[in-house]
Amino acid sequence: MSASQSSYVGSYQHTDEHGHAIRLPLGKVVCVGRNYMDHIQEMSNQVSEIPLLFMKPSTALVDLRELLAIPTNMGACHNELEVALLIGTKMTKVDSERASKGVSGIGLGLDLTLRDEQHRLKQLGQPWERAKAFDGSCPLSPFVLVNSLSKNDHFTFQLHINEQLVQSGDTTLMLTPMLQLIAEISQHFTLLPGDVILTGTPKGVGPMHVDDNVRAVLEGHLSISTRVISQ
Ligand code: ZN
Repeated sequence: MSASQSSYVGSYQHTDEHGHAIRLPLGKVVCVGRNYMDHIQEMSNQVSEIPLLFMKPSTALVDLRELLAIPTNMGACHNELEVALLIGTKMTKVDSERASKGVSGIGLGLDLTLRDEQHRLKQLGQPWERAKAFDGSCPLSPFVLVNSLSKNDHFTFQLHINEQLVQSGDTTLMLTPMLQLIAEISQHFTLLPGDVILTGTPKGVGPMHVDDNVRAVLEGHLSISTRVISQ
């Protein structure tokens, strides 16, 4: 089945780890690029002096537990597994202290990236949205609900494709740690309840293929399995 036949965009809702709906609206997704050194090195990118930020609209949101629909006519579509933070309170220009109280859930997100398209856009000097913000470009897991996020909270996560470990991340290795990242984002963009932050990907990005079996794990919390289909 092709996903385009089911109007899957627009049916996403935030859920908790028990599968219950979370009563928060859908909003923007603020993403950070180049937040893990091993990924910067695999892409031969420069370390960014300030966090590299971009956004995905709410139409990018889909449920990671459903079939993973990727575009198949626009070149390579890469996996980027990232820790996702669900925002619970409005935050404008906050510090790390305030940021710690503004998170209401921890989960996983895929920052699906049309890598060939991204290279083309970079060469044209254009923004990346066509490569990273398309419909369905942000599959999200359920969220583990929390009251706050402390600077000592630490998560490890893995992506397996066809039973092979392709990405293995540890949030202690982020160049800009989670609370600092929220504070930095809030200096520029007010965060609203229901917004999501994707905190960057470790190395191991690569092209996904139709029929790949995908398993995303937030160690000790979540394990989500799905299969790739064509959008
Ligand atoms: Zn990313």
